Amino acid sequence: MSETTTEAPVNFIHAIIEEDLAAGKNGGKVITRFPPEPNGYLHIGHAKAIYMDYLTAVKYGGKFNLRMDDTNPTKEDTEFVQSILNDVKWLGADWEDRLYHASDYFGQMYNYAVDLIKQGKAYVCELTDDEFKEYKGNLTTPGKPSPYRDRSVEENLDLFTRMKNGEFPDGSKVLRAKIDMAHPNMHMRDPAIYRIRHAEHHNTGNTWCVYPLYDFAHPLEDAIEGITHSICTLEFEIHRPLYDWFIENLDTPSKPRQIEFARLALSYTVMSKRKLRELVETHYVNGWDDPRMPTVCAFRRRGVPPEALRDFCEKIGITKFNSLTDVALLEHCIRENLNKTSQRRMAVMNPVRLVIDNYPAGQVEEMEVINNPEDPEAGSRKVPFSGELYIERDDFMEEPIKQFHRLAPGKEVRLRCAYFVTCTGVEKDENGEVSVIHCTYDPETKGGNAPDGRKVKGTIHWVSAAHAVDAEARLYDRLFTIADTNAIPEDKDYKEFLNPESLKIVTAKLEPSLGTVEPGFKCQFERIGYFCADEKDHVPGSKPVFNRTVTLKDSWAKIAAK
Ligand code: ATP
Ligand code: MG
Repeated sequence: MSETTTEAPVNFIHAIIEEDLAAGKNGGKVITRFPPEPNGYLHIGHAKAIYMDYLTAVKYGGKFNLRMDDTNPTKEDTEFVQSILNDVKWLGADWEDRLYHASDYFGQMYNYAVDLIKQGKAYVCELTDDEFKEYKGNLTTPGKPSPYRDRSVEENLDLFTRMKNGEFPDGSKVLRAKIDMAHPNMHMRDPAIYRIRHAEHHNTGNTWCVYPLYDFAHPLEDAIEGITHSICTLEFEIHRPLYDWFIENLDTPSKPRQIEFARLALSYTVMSKRKLRELVETHYVNGWDDPRMPTVCAFRRRGVPPEALRDFCEKIGITKFNSLTDVALLEHCIRENLNKTSQRRMAVMNPVRLVIDNYPAGQVEEMEVINNPEDPEAGSRKVPFSGELYIERDDFMEEPIKQFHRLAPGKEVRLRCAYFVTCTGVEKDENGEVSVIHCTYDPETKGGNAPDGRKVKGTIHWVSAAHAVDAEARLYDRLFTIADTNAIPEDKDYKEFLNPESLKIVTAKLEPSLGTVEPGFKCQFERIGYFCADEKDHVPGSKPVFNRTVTLKDSWAKIAAK
């Protein structure tokens, strides 16, 4: 009889690893790495890769390395290196003392290239770029051998040494692996593995003027570090035979295995580094950490906890096919996390005055308001209450529609943790807009319950007018109006699909306790959404600045359903 297991199904990458472990490969070790190229900020797609690598290592009692894949001297920058370190740390992936730089292996890589030459498996080629392409053939036509292909080992060694010594200008020569010019996989048609670049490198300075190309460098970086499973995204699948060719043909200390998974694409989001950079450089957003960006630093600034990103990455799982993930799922994970962890505070986004005509003039009461109904340990706080309050304009309708259970003339509602009030009339301004709502209160209902057991259908939040703190509330929304930004035709500018409403700034009225919080403070504004005090622009002692992390409900779902 077969036994049923209660364990969660393993994803296909873990299934491969378990097979390898069962077969006794790699001495039972699992070592993964995250290899960012420091040419931009990390985004949520990178977070998916980071959690994949890190959590896999954790699951199998293995190790996780962080490696700056800095083999390209011209595009990389120490600003990016620093941001990557911050972001990976913040996400909670611990590389312990294993932070590496691909550029630290330039010496070893050079020796591996020499080894290939000595084996007769690499040669120095002098075709121009155009000739190189022409000789390569295409998917239907096999390539033809370069006239330099049969150079002797001695000549190749001499030329490669002189390339390294700086004797030749950029672009005049490359070192190529000698594989198969008729191979059906174009990447196997004698790929270039070293090129000349007289450029200063942020780590190695001017030590080198030849630099290895990605397809050659990456497997060697993995092998040098003893990586067992080199997990990467699907576009590298077609490069895998080449990855394996270098590993097979060189005497490397370990034999890593490349496994590919589908990259994350999110709806209403662009993820390409080029586009993100353009949005920053052309000031469509206010920097890499603008809370509308899909970058890790932007999520942090927006108030998203790393645990929510991790939960999201675990929920979407790992597949072998590219698809579009609904950003609503990410927002759901953020809400779920914040619902449990956030204290509630009262804030009014679109205020209108409410005057309680029978409340004793000048009286102020301290109302006991619970901090988080989801967490009894969060306790309660005192909030000042008086006869003049602000409530949300939306919580009042002069001529209420059906199902409107909030305030309207003659209707009674509960003011959260305070009193029942009944609307007796309104005042209007010269434009006919309601400027003051008049009410009476029932002193017997203190705390928000009537001793006679009568019920009200609506409960609304409020802030005492005399005690309210004015704040800048930044209401962020999706950056694009189109779900699948990858479907934007080539001849159209993706910037045409930017959401003009992605940021609205309003002056909100906050309960006074919010006037003194530190940058980064997170809470739920009751009935409104989750907010955090901006880590850059919120300065204690000045007018508070709050970012909306996420609304309480998915308002886009409603729009779509209409
Ligand atoms: P580039 O086009 O500059 O190479 P990149 O986004 O691939 O951009 P890298 O720094 O090379 O940037 O990425 C580091 C790692 O993150 C790679 O292993 C890559 O496979 C992975 N990665 C990048 N984008 C995504 C994504 N959207 N989803 C999952 N993994 C990703
Ligand atoms: Mg890449």
